[in-house]
Amino acid sequence: MSELKQTSKATSNDIKFAVDRMLGRLAKWLRVLGCDVIYGQHLTGYGLIRAARAEDRLILTRDRRLKQKQPPEFILIESDHYRDQLRQVMRECGLTLSDPLFTRCLECNTVLQVRAKTTVQKLVPPYVYSTQEHFSWCPGCERIYWPATHHQKMVEELKRLGLG
Ligand SMILES: [Zn+2]
Repeated sequence: MSELKQTSKATSNDIKFAVDRMLGRLAKWLRVLGCDVIYGQHLTGYGLIRAARAEDRLILTRDRRLKQKQPPEFILIESDHYRDQLRQVMRECGLTLSDPLFTRCLECNTVLQVRAKTTVQKLVPPYVYSTQEHFSWCPGCERIYWPATHHQKMVEELKRLGLG
């Protein structure tokens, strides 16, 4: 698919992240951008280092002491605010906003699959079914996604961040 499109810049799909458990909002936003992100309660200190090593992931952390534990490559996140955090990661990793957004499950990181409308009729509320045309499904946790208001708000938020 994207193999034909050669660019010198990394795309969000190229870098895999292991995100420290204290950076939950950042983890979610990186998934919105399509990044492969692992995140969870066990991901701190040595747990974070082990997980990053196992899958060759770039660590994102606020923990200044992590350096003493001889981690693989990591980025020390400077700010407490997720907007600044996201800006920092995009800047340092050369990430850009790429279409399409929302290709990955925000809860479990699995790549979403497009579902034909008729196949989700019994799985979504009737109002949603009657007002939406496009649906994605997560093979990992079986959530159904559709472009809702929060979806639009997130896109606007990204634009406000000047990340477009
Ligand atoms: Zn999922």
